Amino acid sequence: MEKLTDKHIKDFLENASLYTWQEFERPDFDRESLWINEIDAYCETCKQSRPFQYLGSRGGGAGMPRKQLTSGQSFFQFTCVSCHNEKHEYLVEQVVSDETIKLQKYGELPRKHLDRDPLLQKFFSNDKDYYEKAVVCLANGYGIAAFAYMRRIIENNIGELLDMLQEEINSTNADHSLLDKLSELKKETPMSEKIKVANNAMPDYLTPSGLNPLGRLYQVLSEGVHKYSDEVCLERANTLQTCIKYLVSELASRKKNRESFKSLIGSL
Ligand SMILES: [Zn+2]
Repeated sequence: MEKLTDKHIKDFLENASLYTWQEFERPDFDRESLWINEIDAYCETCKQSRPFQYLGSRGGGAGMPRKQLTSGQSFFQFTCVSCHNEKHEYLVEQVVSDETIKLQKYGELPRKHLDRDPLLQKFFSNDKDYYEKAVVCLANGYGIAAFAYMRRIIENNIGELLDMLQEEINSTNADHSLLDKLSELKKETPMSEKIKVANNAMPDYLTPSGLNPLGRLYQVLSEGVHKYSDEVCLERANTLQTCIKYLVSELASRKKNRESFKSLIGSL
């Protein structure tokens, strides 16, 4: 369990699903409230992600006795710093004990925008019903279901992902021994073997800070739904989505750049 910081509260307000609890260790200093100054959110007026800030006064004031955060409810209202028009509001219940602080979001306005990634929607077009269900489950914090749907979609589409990788490596003259490893991944081999191969089947430029998204995908795919709690499954489902999103978007944009470069140079 991590000690509660402003960053945790920001993440919680921005991302937590309604009616799911998150528990934190109580910080060393006593917070008076869950107050934070700023969140980031999509602004419907500005049509982009903007900082939203709390515009009221913080209360208290010099010489006032310092209060301690107690169990109860907190209301947050943040206003877009650019248009001063759009507001994001949150209702949070907090349960404070000597050691821990538990948070639950029980209200949110505007209704949270479900993150249907257009690239993934296209990539998963043969499984769009499953992807839609996975997105809804992720947004509601239904971890076991989200993990099961994400696993199914990725198992169905991993061949296509390997094809995209193959095409990328073929056209960039990267280390061609990687191609052998990719074709090995298409064979029927035990999952433990696949994880090992996948961890060595990627060009360096697709492993940001040494993190290998393909290896991670196989690692998480090898982990069964039955073993884990709802919370851990939710984390796994998010990992799957993050890894596949990174790979699909990197590969698609590199391909697009290659093609536009080719057509530009070709027309000169
Ligand atoms: Zn705005």
